[in-house]
Amino acid sequence: MSPRSNTIVMKFGGTSMKDAETIRSSAQLAASTADGRPVVAVVSAMDQVTEHLLDLGDAAAADNRAAVYNLMAQVRSKHETAAKAIGNGAPASVDAMLDKLDRLVGGIAAVGELTARSKDAVVAFGEMLSTQLMGAAMSSGGGICKAFTGGQAGIVTNENHGKAEPLMDLSLFQLKQTLQPLLDKGERAVVSGFIAQTQHGVVTTLGRGGSDYTACILGAALNADEIWIWSDVDGLMTADPRTVPSAKLLAEITFAEAIEMGQFGAKSMHPLALEPAAEHGIPVRFRNTFNPKSAGTRIVPIQPTGDDGHPVKSIPLLKNAAVLTVGGAAMIGRPGTAAKVFDALAEARINIMMISQSVSEAGISLVIGKDQAERARAVLERMLMRPGLAKSVTLVEDVCALAVVGSGMAGHAGIAARVFGALAKSNINIIAIAQGSSELSISMVVSAGAAADAVRALHSEFIG
Ligand code: ADP
Ligand code: ASP
Ligand code: MG
Repeated sequence: MSPRSNTIVMKFGGTSMKDAETIRSSAQLAASTADGRPVVAVVSAMDQVTEHLLDLGDAAAADNRAAVYNLMAQVRSKHETAAKAIGNGAPASVDAMLDKLDRLVGGIAAVGELTARSKDAVVAFGEMLSTQLMGAAMSSGGGICKAFTGGQAGIVTNENHGKAEPLMDLSLFQLKQTLQPLLDKGERAVVSGFIAQTQHGVVTTLGRGGSDYTACILGAALNADEIWIWSDVDGLMTADPRTVPSAKLLAEITFAEAIEMGQFGAKSMHPLALEPAAEHGIPVRFRNTFNPKSAGTRIVPIQPTGDDGHPVKSIPLLKNAAVLTVGGAAMIGRPGTAAKVFDALAEARINIMMISQSVSEAGISLVIGKDQAERARAVLERMLMRPGLAKSVTLVEDVCALAVVGSGMAGHAGIAARVFGALAKSNINIIAIAQGSSELSISMVVSAGAAADAVRALHSEFIG
């Protein structure tokens, strides 16, 4: 491994990009908190803009003119207001970009359909616009700050629009080629999170929450000293503070624990976000834009302390899940049925978040995202029921998946009993349950209506 550079990669999420004032203070943090070390900023779209753009694409495809008009007006006014306040060239570049978005939306309405590719093209404007604003804010105090989209900076992906996978070696190489010379000259850079491009230059997106992923890819490419993820909470907490007001800040957790939390939707993080940093051994720190004095949460390779009496570190919750159960006697004792299920779903690019199978083998339950549930059911019906390999494929929607996560759980007897006891005391029914052999987490599915109570019950059992 080449020696670590002293660069700090800082990612500012939508919550740090709310309006001109928060963008200016984010730029100020980029300038003042790195103790003179080189800085590359990665930015998300302004708060709520990704949601508006997704709705805008749908409204355009349906030729719903009133909705298109309203959404476009909201996106325009949010960016124009911020650009005017930030100045320094931002109004002109933002206006030119908004006009392009307008033309793209008109084209989608004319064709009457939104492909995965055109959806990416629309949603990418969120990060392209916020990058212009941050670039203007970062260079307004003097000094040069160059702005890049993820693709311009060097991130290339496959063509899996909506959840594109980076061609990692090539991306790392290109990012270094683009950014390092500029840092060596004492300049700074801002790069759009979440968006990239194919090898043919077509815009792609990395999946929701993908800006954290961009930041860690950049960190790996530049062999950064640290990667800082700025957000609106002091760091990673023992649970979502919106659900559990008494949630506590975690000072230090391991990459394995953080990745496990990310997979369960803590902090709306992309499930792969931390992997490039973990792989290259680059420390990641979660910090609060609105409370920069707090040291935040540091993600480290291995836990330095032993048993601190808290085997469970955190209780993440994943909303909008669904359980698919493949059932039928034909599966019993027939090797390869599970493999067929997984192959069929992998081919349809459906991500399985949790698996459980009873010893009787009469059913395999899979937890997947709600948005992919109907498609997954259709795939399994076609691949397993028609050839007679399974009798039924049932779908339960409106469920949430939650987990208790902590590396101290390994080899600790009685954790599962405490999980079940706490949920039973609160009268919460568990629909499915799974534990990996690493014993890093126990995950379970409950109805959406019971999810918040389940998190609170487990938090008070394990964390207090
Ligand atoms: P950003 O826009 O900065 O990327 P996100 O919305 O992705 O912000 O993540 C920040 C939010 O994640 C917080 O406001 C908090 O409510 C939520 N969250 C959920 N679980 C956790 C957790 N375990 N620790 C910290 N924040 C969490
Ligand atoms: N703007 C994108 C999203 O909302 C990416 C991100 O914020 O990380 O998912
Ligand atoms: Mg986020």
